[in-house]
Amino acid sequence: MTVESVFPLLEPLLPLVGKPIQYVGGELNSSVKDWDSVAVHWALMYPDAYEVGLPNQGVQILYEVINERADALAERTYSIWPDLEALMREHGIGQFTVDGHRPVAAFDLLGVSFATELGYTNLLSALDLAGIPLLAAQRRAEPLVIAGGHAAFNPEPIADFLDAAVLGDGEQAVLEITDVVRDWKAAGGPGGRVELLARLAAVAGVYVPRFYDVEYLPDARILRVAPNRPGVPYRVAKRTVMDLDAWPYPKAPLVPLAESVHERMSVEIFRGCTRGCRFCQAGMITRPVRERSVTTVGEMVANGLARTGFEEVGLLSLSSADHSEIGEIAKGLADRYEGTNTSLSLPSTRVDAFNVTLANELSRNGRRSGLTFAPEGGSERMRRVINKMVSAEDLIRTTSTAYAAGWRQVKLYFMCGLPTETDEDVLEIADLAHGVIRAGREAAGHRDVRCTVSIGAFVPKPHTPFQWAAQCDWQTVDKRLKLLREAINADRKLGRSVGVRYHDGRPSIVEGLLSRGDRRVGAVIRRVWEDGGRFDGWSEHFSYTRWEAACAAMLPPFGVSLDWYTTRERAENEVLPWDHLDSGLDREWLWQDWQEALSGTEVEDCRWTPCFDCGVCPTMGTDIQIGPTGRTLLPLTPVERLANH
Ligand code: SF4
Repeated sequence: MTVESVFPLLEPLLPLVGKPIQYVGGELNSSVKDWDSVAVHWALMYPDAYEVGLPNQGVQILYEVINERADALAERTYSIWPDLEALMREHGIGQFTVDGHRPVAAFDLLGVSFATELGYTNLLSALDLAGIPLLAAQRRAEPLVIAGGHAAFNPEPIADFLDAAVLGDGEQAVLEITDVVRDWKAAGGPGGRVELLARLAAVAGVYVPRFYDVEYLPDARILRVAPNRPGVPYRVAKRTVMDLDAWPYPKAPLVPLAESVHERMSVEIFRGCTRGCRFCQAGMITRPVRERSVTTVGEMVANGLARTGFEEVGLLSLSSADHSEIGEIAKGLADRYEGTNTSLSLPSTRVDAFNVTLANELSRNGRRSGLTFAPEGGSERMRRVINKMVSAEDLIRTTSTAYAAGWRQVKLYFMCGLPTETDEDVLEIADLAHGVIRAGREAAGHRDVRCTVSIGAFVPKPHTPFQWAAQCDWQTVDKRLKLLREAINADRKLGRSVGVRYHDGRPSIVEGLLSRGDRRVGAVIRRVWEDGGRFDGWSEHFSYTRWEAACAAMLPPFGVSLDWYTTRERAENEVLPWDHLDSGLDREWLWQDWQEALSGTEVEDCRWTPCFDCGVCPTMGTDIQIGPTGRTLLPLTPVERLANH
C-alpha cells in the first residue's frame, strides 16, 4: 500500500519555524525509492537535530547499505525542534522522514543510532510524535524500534522502549535483519510480532530485551539477568566487520543542505583501538584494530570528493595517527591534492612530534585551523591511572614544534573527576598550559601563540575498567574547574594566551546515570520526557533540576537513587546491568586492569607488544589487523581526470 508524503501538510508550517531547511530533504546523494517496489522499509534516526545528525557516519553507512538492496529502502529522520513539534501536534502530523516525508509509523523498522545517552528523551519524543506506543510491549503493527551505536552496549535504561538492540558494527547485521523481516512478511507474518522478535534474537549481535528477565537482590543490586524463553542466548555477543576494505561506505556521502557540525567529508581509516586508555569506551568496545588499506582509503577519498564537492576530508578513527601506514596515506593524499582546494585533516592526535609532521603534510593545501592533542589527565600520576602516558616534557616539546612550524593555535583536551583524582592533579593543567605558552613563544620567536584548554567531566562507562568506579560528584568537579581557572589566570602574562572551555559537571551526572543504569532508570527517562525534557545534549535545553526531581520521584520505590547509580563504587562480584552483553572483553581482565589503574600501573599497546589477554581476539576468532601492506597510493594525479568527468 503506497504511503503518502506528509509534505503538503508540513510545507505551510515551515515558514513559521526556525531553520526550516532542516526538514526539507533532497540532499545530494540522498535517495527516495518507490515504496511499493520493496519489501522492507527502514526509517533510520539520529536522535538529535539535523545539524548534528546528518554527518553521523553510522547512519550514513546503513542508509547506503540498505538502499543498495533492490528489496529494501531506508529513509532518515532526525529530532524535531520543539517549535515544529508543537505545530505538528496541532495539525496532526506525525514524525516523518526527511527523504520521502513519509510517516515513520508506516515503516517496518525504526533504527535509532545512539552516540550518547543524552539522546534518550529524544527517542521518546519521536516515538510519541510518530504515534508509536512508548512501551515496546504495547506495540502491535507499529515499526520495530531497534537501537544501535555505542550506547547500545548498555541499552537497559531504555530496554522497555526498545524491541531490540544491535551490538557492534551494523553493516552486516542490518542486512541480516532485513532478510529476517522480509521472509517473515512474505510468509504472512506467522506468530505475529513475538515470533518476528524471536527470529531476530537468533541473528548474531541482536539483543531482544523482552526475552530477558532481571531479578534483584533485597539490597537493590541485580541478582541475575536471564533469558525467559528457550533458544535465546544467555549472552549476546557484538558484531564485528573484519574486512573494512569489503565495506567502503559511505561511498556517496550526504551533503547537508543546512549548516552542520562537520562541514567535511569523513573517511574512516581504521576501527578499534588497542592503546588501552581506561576511560575510553569507544576504544574498548571496538577492538580489535582493523585497518582499511591505503589503497581503499585513497579510493574512498577520490570517489567521495567526486560525488560531493567537499573541500575538506577528515581521516577518521579513534587515534588516526596510529594507522600503521599513516605516513604513506598522508603523503600520498597530500601529493595527489597538491595545488587543489582540497584539504585534509586528522582529528585529535597523540602527543608526539610525528603528528606535527603529519599535520604539516596534510595541511599543505589548507588552512591551519588548529592542532588538537588529548593528554586527558592533568598530572603524570593521573595519566598513569588512565593509561595515557604522555610526559609534560613530551607535550611541551610537541606543541613547541607545532608553534615553530607556524601553527598559532593548539587545543588540549583534559578530563576532570577521574578516579583517584585530587585538586592538585587538576591544578597541574595550569602549569602545563603555562609551560606550553612559555616554550611556544620561545620556539616561534613571537608572542602570537595561543592554547585552548578544553575540559570535560569524566563519566565511567560500561565495558571499561572504570565501569566499577565511583563517579565524582558534580560539586567537586565544578570546584576543581574553578580552582583551575584561577590558577591559569594567576599568571596574567601567560594566562591571557590560554583559553579555558568547560561545561558544568551536572550533565555528566545524568550521563552517568544513563550510562550505567538498569531497567529501573527507564521510569526516570519517561518522567523527564513527560515533564518536557528534550534535547538533553544541548545546554540551553538541559535541566538538571528536572532529572533530579524525576529521580527523586521514581527511584525510591526501588530502593535506589541518583547517587546509587553514579557516585557509588561497585564491588567485583556485583552483577552489572550489561554483564549479559558481550563486547568481547574478558571481565576478569577488565577487573585486573581496574586494579592496575588504582595502583597507577600502565599497560602497553598490544599492537606492538605481546597480547595481554583482554579476551577480544579469541572471542572474535581473529587477530588485530595492521599493516604495513606495502601497497602505495596510486595513481598520483587523477584529480584533473575526475574533475573532467
Ligand atoms: S586479545 Fe590480545 S591482541 Fe587482541 S586486542 Fe586483546 S590484548 Fe590485543
